[in-house]
Amino acid sequence: MMRTKPNYDKAKNAALKALKKHNIQDFPINILEILDSYKDIKIIKYSEMARKRNCTLEEIIEINSSEDGVIHYSGDRDKYLIAYNDVIEHQERVYWTLAHEFGHYLLGHHKESDRTSLARNEMTEEEYDAREVEANFFARFFLSPPPVIAMANLNDYQKIMDFFGVSYTAAKNTLNYIERSYKKGFRFFLPNDLFNNLKVFFNKVSYGKTCLKCGVFSYLKDSKFCPNCGSHEFHNFFKGADFNMYYPGIITNKENGKALECPVCRNQETEIEGEYCCQCGTHIVNRCTNLAKDWNGDFYHTCITPLPGNCRHCPQCGQPTTFLQNGLLKQWTVEREIEKQHQQNQLFLASSH
Ligand SMILES: [Zn+2]
Ligand SMILES: [Zn+2]
Ligand SMILES: [Zn+2]
Ligand SMILES: [Zn+2]
Repeated sequence: MMRTKPNYDKAKNAALKALKKHNIQDFPINILEILDSYKDIKIIKYSEMARKRNCTLEEIIEINSSEDGVIHYSGDRDKYLIAYNDVIEHQERVYWTLAHEFGHYLLGHHKESDRTSLARNEMTEEEYDAREVEANFFARFFLSPPPVIAMANLNDYQKIMDFFGVSYTAAKNTLNYIERSYKKGFRFFLPNDLFNNLKVFFNKVSYGKTCLKCGVFSYLKDSKFCPNCGSHEFHNFFKGADFNMYYPGIITNKENGKALECPVCRNQETEIEGEYCCQCGTHIVNRCTNLAKDWNGDFYHTCITPLPGNCRHCPQCGQPTTFLQNGLLKQWTVEREIEKQHQQNQLFLASSH
């Protein structure tokens, strides 16, 4: 069946459906993990293909008729093979390629005709282009959904690159697409369930700051100081290492701020009255240590809300937190050294096998 007109709605809906199905809560997406969850898709790197066939990367590019990647379909076995060029300097390009091929798969492009491979030399120009356009449109809505960008008010290509992990070109194109759509009177809409899934992501966009000193990216509302090192100087755009991922700290209850488990004696009965462990007496709520005197000469906390269990410094005033002061959290520089050591040991273990 010949088809020359791209079906944009179909591509868009497939992307939104996939975001929901895979319970996407943050970007960039772990696309390889997602592709891995499909039993009828096999993935192979160009470098691996070259090694197995004992030929050069250039020959593999030639075989696949694409510098970036391709999706092959075997009708007899009803199975797919995605081959992608992993020897590319820019990882954003690899990321896009994988989403693009995923689009071909979900949109059933192979089954529309009896082609076994979606590569340029096997199709007429128009036929090729309609599917290519759809696969790219899918990739855009899956990796950097315009409704999310519009709702988050991200009208800056650099931020789109940082938050979604896409290339400069992809970010620019998406931004242009949103602007064009607005001019035509189109409004973007994000289904409720997707919006709820992405709440933390929207917080990151609204409150996200990257510390100049320690490089940590944190996203606490109204923060003026880095919760990790207490510095008050932030980068303008660059996103950097996610604070909660790199410095998880002590897990606390989001509502009352109490540690779910006492960090000293491991007692898990922490949902009792008061802020102290009933077994060992450790203070199990992370608070700012900044105290001020009232008219009577009594001390009171200036920053009152309990802080997340990984804050070493108060994001409101920059002073150390009780968890840091009481030694329940190590200084971030110490923590970073331990992590480095840990990674080196793992590398050593991996290479000694
Ligand atoms: Zn394609
Ligand atoms: Zn910092
Ligand atoms: Zn305890
Ligand atoms: Zn404070």
